[in-house]
Amino acid sequence: MSARFDKVLVANRGEIACRVIRTCRRMGLATVAVFSDADERAPHVDMADEAVRLGPAPPAESYLNVARILDAARRTGAGAIHPGYGFLAENAAFVRAVTEAGLVFIGPRAETVERMGSKAGARAIMAAAGVPVVPGYDGDDQDDARLVSEAARIGFPLLVKASAGGGGKGMTVVRGAADLPEALAQARRVAKSAFGDDRLLLERYIESPRHIEVQIFGDEHGHHIDVFERECSIQRRFQKVVEEAPSPALTSTQRARLRSTATTAARTLGYVGAGTVEFIFAASGEFYFLEVNTRLQVEHPVTEAITGLDLVELQVRVAQGEALPVRQEDVTVHGHAVEVRLCAEDPAAGLLPATGRLLEWREPLGGLVRIDAGVREGSEASVHYDSLLAKLIAHGDTRDEAIDRLVSALRGLSVVGVSTNRDLLLDVLEHPEFRAGRFNTHFIAEQWPDGWTPAPVDPELEAQCAIAAALAEATSRHRAIPHVPALRPGWRNNPFRPQRVELRAGDRTLRVEYASTAPGTWRARVDEGAWRAVRTDLQPDGLDLELDGVRRRYRLVADGERRSVRRGDRTLTFDLVPRFPEHAGVMPGGGCLAPMPGKVVKLLVREGEAVRAGAPLIVIEAMKMELTLTAPADGVVRATRYAAGDQFQAGMPLVELEAPED
Ligand code: ADP
Repeated sequence: MSARFDKVLVANRGEIACRVIRTCRRMGLATVAVFSDADERAPHVDMADEAVRLGPAPPAESYLNVARILDAARRTGAGAIHPGYGFLAENAAFVRAVTEAGLVFIGPRAETVERMGSKAGARAIMAAAGVPVVPGYDGDDQDDARLVSEAARIGFPLLVKASAGGGGKGMTVVRGAADLPEALAQARRVAKSAFGDDRLLLERYIESPRHIEVQIFGDEHGHHIDVFERECSIQRRFQKVVEEAPSPALTSTQRARLRSTATTAARTLGYVGAGTVEFIFAASGEFYFLEVNTRLQVEHPVTEAITGLDLVELQVRVAQGEALPVRQEDVTVHGHAVEVRLCAEDPAAGLLPATGRLLEWREPLGGLVRIDAGVREGSEASVHYDSLLAKLIAHGDTRDEAIDRLVSALRGLSVVGVSTNRDLLLDVLEHPEFRAGRFNTHFIAEQWPDGWTPAPVDPELEAQCAIAAALAEATSRHRAIPHVPALRPGWRNNPFRPQRVELRAGDRTLRVEYASTAPGTWRARVDEGAWRAVRTDLQPDGLDLELDGVRRRYRLVADGERRSVRRGDRTLTFDLVPRFPEHAGVMPGGGCLAPMPGKVVKLLVREGEAVRAGAPLIVIEAMKMELTLTAPADGVVRATRYAAGDQFQAGMPLVELEAPED
C-alpha cells in the first residue's frame, strides 16, 4: 500500500514531542517540530528535521493556535499531524480543520473525538452499549435546581465534574447538600476558563477506588484490539504520578472482563487509532467506565515495556491506512513495568508547580531505565506549560525488580535549579504498602495526611555540605585573585582567627568557620561544633573533601548567591548570607504575596474587612490550577491591588493585611 504521508508535524512540545519524533525517525519519516518563543532552544526543536516558530509563549498564541499550526504544515509540506497529548489532541474542531486542509490526523476520527470529548455524552453511549457506568447524572438540563435534585437522588458523597474536563481539573468532592451550590459555582468557573465549556456532570463518589485503564487500538479495516491494562492509582489532586502495567490488583477473571469491556467500547465507537478506556475499580471488585481518552496517554510507555510494541508506530501505521500489524492473540505480556512522572514541583509549598532554570540535569548512568525527557541542562520550567519534566520507566521480570530499578535510577538523577517531586516518588516506591500492591487513589493523601514533606536532612550530611560550600567559595575566591598567589586562601596575619561564612538553609542559618593550616588543608567547624581537620581538592564541577580521613566528592552548582551541593543522591541548597543584610521584604502586618505568576479569578475580601488567620482572601489561577490564598494571621485588609481577570507577577502583594487594632 502506498504511504499517505512521508513527513509528520508534531503539534506539541516537551517529552511527548521528542518521543513521537524518535519513532517517526526510526520509521524513515521526516519530522517537523513547532515551538513557541519560550521553547526556541528546547530539545524537541533540535530533534526534528525542521522546526516552525508559532508565536509567543502563551499556548493560545502558539501550541493551541490552529491556524498557525496548519500554516506550519503547509510551509514545510508535512502530510500528517501528530497531536501528542494535551493541547489540541482531543479537540474535534482541530481534527476537522486538519482533515479539511487535506492532511492526515494521527488519531481517531473527528466524530469519535467529539463524542468522547464530553464525559456526559460518553457515559450515555457506553451505558447504552451495556458498559457499566458510575451512577450519576449526565443530562443536558444544567439548572442548579435540577442538579441539586439529581444530587439528592445519587446521594452523597458525590463528585462534580466538568463534562469537558481533563487532568483532574474542575473536579470537586461534595460531602453534603450544603456544600453543593458553592461546589457547582466553582466547578463551572474552572470548567469555563479551562475548557471553554461549563457543563457539569454528577457522579457517585466511589470511596477508596483504584484507577485502572485499558489501552485500545482500532484500524480502518474494522479490527479492534486491547493492549492490556495499566494501573494509575497513585495520584495527587486527581492527577496520576506513578503508573504501572499490569495492575497488581486484578485477578485473571477480572482482567479478562475489563479487557473485553474495553474492546466492546472500541467496537461500539468504530474506533480508529489509539485510545484508552478508563475505569474506576471499586473496593467491592466492581468496575465502572469513567471516560475514553482519544489519544496517546502520558503513561503509554509501561504498556510498550511489557508488550514490546511501539504504540506511536501503531498509530502511524493505522493513520497510513494499514491494517493493525498485530492480532489480539499476538499481544502478550512479559514482566512488569512502572513509570514515574518527574515534575517541577516545590515540596515545601505543598507540591505546587515550581519554575526556574535547570542548572543541572544529569540522567542516571547505566541504562537501567527508559527516560522520556523533554528537557536538558539549561532548560526553563516555565509557568506557561505543565510541570512534567520527564518520565522514567523501568521494566523487570517481576514488579519488585522493576521498582528496584526505578528507585536506583531516580537516586542517580540529579536536578538542580528547579525543585522536583523526586523524593516523594522515591518515598512512594519504597513504601511497604505500595510494594505490597495495597493502595488506592488516596494513597498519597492517606500516607501523608498533613501533606508530604521531605525527610529531615541528616545534620552530619548538612554540616559536611556546608563546609564544602564554604571552602569551595574560599578556594575559588582565592583563585580569582591571581596577583597574590603566595597567599593561601583564608590566610590571615593571625592564623588563629578563623573566617566565617553564613549559609541559609530554609529558615535556619548555619555558621561555618574555617582557617587554612597549609595549602589545601583546613580546620573547619559548623555552629560552634568541634573543629575538624579537612583537606580540599577543587575539581571542575565540585570539591573533593577529605573529612576526618574520608574522601568524598561534593558536586557544586552556583547560581547567584545560591549554592547547591550534591553528595550521593542528596542535593542540599544554601544561600550565602550577604555580610550586610538587606532590608527584608516583609509586608507590614503580613498579607499574601503571589507564589507564582498568574491571574486573579475572584477577590474574596474588601478593603477594611477584618479577617481571621486561614481565611480565604483571593482565588487565583496559576499554572493551569485554581488556588485559594489565605490570611497568614488575623488582620484587617489594608489594600487590595488586583481584581478578577488581572494578571500578576510572582512576589506581588495581592492582598495587604495590617494587624488588627486591639
Ligand atoms: P480527568 O479527565 O480530569 O482526568 P477522570 O474522570 O478521568 O478525570 O478522573 C480522574 C480521577 O478522579 C480518577 O482516576 C479517580 O481517581 C478520580 N475519580 C473520577 N471519578 C470518580 C468517582 N466517580 N469516584 C471516585 N473517584 C473518581
